[in-house]
Amino acid sequence: MTYPFTAVVGMDDLRLALLLNAVSPAVGGVLVRGEKGTAKSTSVRALAAVLPPVAVVPGCRFGCDPAAPDPGCPDGPHEAGAAARTRPARLVELPVGASEDRLVGSLDLERALTEGVKAYEPGLLAAAHRGVLYVDEVNLLHDHLVDLLLDAAALGTAYVEREGISVRHAARFLLVGTMNPEEGELRPQLLDRFGLTVEVAAPRDPAVRAEVVRRRFASDADPAGFAAAWDDEETALAERIATARARLPRVVLSDAALRQVTAVCAAFDVDGLRADLVTARAAIAHAAWCGREEVTEDDVRVAARLALPHRRRRNPFDAPGLDDETLEQALADSRPEDDGPQDDGPQDDGPQDDGPQDDGGPDGGPDDGGGPGMGSNTYGSDAETHEKDPLPGDGEGAGEPTTAPRGEGGGRTDAAPAPDRAAVPPADPFRTRRLEVPGIGAGAAGRRSRARSERGRVVGSTRPAGAVTRLHLPSTVLAAAPHQLGRGRTGPGLRLAREDLRQATLEGREGNLVLFVVDASGSMGSRARMAAVKGAVLSLLLDAYQRRDKVGLITFRAAGAELALPPTWSVEAAAARLTGLPTGGRTPLAAGLLRAHEVLRVERVRDPRRRPLLVVVTDGRATGARGSDSLGEARRAAGLVASAGTAAVVVDCEAGPVRLGLAASLGQQLGAQTLRLEELGAESLASTVRDVRKAA
Ligand SMILES: [Zn+2]
Repeated sequence: MTYPFTAVVGMDDLRLALLLNAVSPAVGGVLVRGEKGTAKSTSVRALAAVLPPVAVVPGCRFGCDPAAPDPGCPDGPHEAGAAARTRPARLVELPVGASEDRLVGSLDLERALTEGVKAYEPGLLAAAHRGVLYVDEVNLLHDHLVDLLLDAAALGTAYVEREGISVRHAARFLLVGTMNPEEGELRPQLLDRFGLTVEVAAPRDPAVRAEVVRRRFASDADPAGFAAAWDDEETALAERIATARARLPRVVLSDAALRQVTAVCAAFDVDGLRADLVTARAAIAHAAWCGREEVTEDDVRVAARLALPHRRRRNPFDAPGLDDETLEQALADSRPEDDGPQDDGPQDDGPQDDGPQDDGGPDGGPDDGGGPGMGSNTYGSDAETHEKDPLPGDGEGAGEPTTAPRGEGGGRTDAAPAPDRAAVPPADPFRTRRLEVPGIGAGAAGRRSRARSERGRVVGSTRPAGAVTRLHLPSTVLAAAPHQLGRGRTGPGLRLAREDLRQATLEGREGNLVLFVVDASGSMGSRARMAAVKGAVLSLLLDAYQRRDKVGLITFRAAGAELALPPTWSVEAAAARLTGLPTGGRTPLAAGLLRAHEVLRVERVRDPRRRPLLVVVTDGRATGARGSDSLGEARRAAGLVASAGTAAVVVDCEAGPVRLGLAASLGQQLGAQTLRLEELGAESLASTVRDVRKAA
């Protein structure tokens, strides 16, 4: 017995986002972000019950609509006007550990080739057709599955192809993903492909919280009775959805309203035109939902709040949310002059005000009180977190001089080493070039170094160890050719046997362990230089995040080396350590390298298939106690690292008019590529990022 959708309290944005998609699936789905225990999943699972039921062709495993059956349905063709069966709209859950076959369906390649039978078992995409596909913890889903999912959602079609044998079927569904950002972010390019996003938090208002608990108690004590008490509300909401769907095609988006949509998107400097399309569609759906046939400024406002937060140019360390002032300004600036203000702003026309669920019944007081008020609370808290932008390092940089230049890409004022131990905030990040481990690995899928993988380009063939998943046709034909006479072949067709089949060998990319060894000593020069170095490492961390690497951080300064962060998936943690990193003192380069060598030795035991990449960020200088041969020690340490076969890159941070070239010789000793700090960038995004932040 699922919890009634109309009984969910204090989740107004989430409910609205789901309902807009229910009215207009073209909006493109919802991504729900929030901590655990906020009833995200309860709300999503409750949705199916209020979606209008669907009529299907009996016996069709692909959920064809009798009125308009899929002409390419694998279970078809269906006769026009055949009998129909009505069933509730489905909510299908995709488990995070699902295989590709489970999602898109499985094709028995061996039967197809040896028996000529196209044996296809539908997957979850077929089951979700005309319903809801829900992925809890979508951020933990394998990239490849997310891609398949979003492709199907965008095209409305699922497509399976194995070696020229293909099956396609309609798969139109409302995609909903939930995630807890503390467990890792979704890659930005995937984020953008969800139509709307909602940030959910537990309600702050004690009265609302009490109501949540009260209803939960009532539901737990008597699920059937509780659900029955909400029957009328559920029915009314289902009817409202159906009415809004019917109204949708009649809703007009005037030129003036479209101008407001594009003005708002431009104001938030979103990439591409997808934002404009989604905002327009969501505004139209909202108008239909509110019973209007023309899009108003309020529709645009509501749509922008749901469609834009995740499309701003941002990086994973930025705070979520949308700045209300910018939004209101953009709406005001683009308002048609002669019309005057069309609407009174968000507080008067909250979308939850006029729903049938508010027409009385058990959904009385607390929800009404919670509705618009809760909304403005949420936005208020967004604005707060927005100010707490973690990037410029509000960490341990307290008490630093306020005049420290930042983001100048390394001022060349390489004066006397500053003996400053306070943390220097990093300069703004930029997009880096791809550093990679040479050779071909076999590690977990990622985006950094070349590797044997389950997908990618075909580079050869082998006898299959298990079932054939990717056939290598030329090798298979070659293997079968000598047996054709013996098998009594007479016709044109090739007579294939199971033992002829050859599996293709594929090459793709793997993720690596990127271990940073960062010189934080006084030799690294001025604060500006250190800020540039930190900015560069931060950029490499962002890059590692997108390439699905594990990262670790070793720093060396003063008396020795420190494992500031053991290898982890949390790039955020690494960034935080880096930001708070104190600098100054002597330069124990050898200690840093030896520490790295030790960490990598342990990691090789722990995760042997994940190849490491050592990134040494240094000017190559080494200093120690008076009379010690620091440079010699560093050379020997580098030799040790190189003898273990560790791939490395040296980022040369030396600046100033007189250069010693020590980093380059360290690079030689490590057998590593040496890049100057300034050569690290692929293209400079730093200025854009800075501009957006200023505007926001
Ligand atoms: Zn069908």
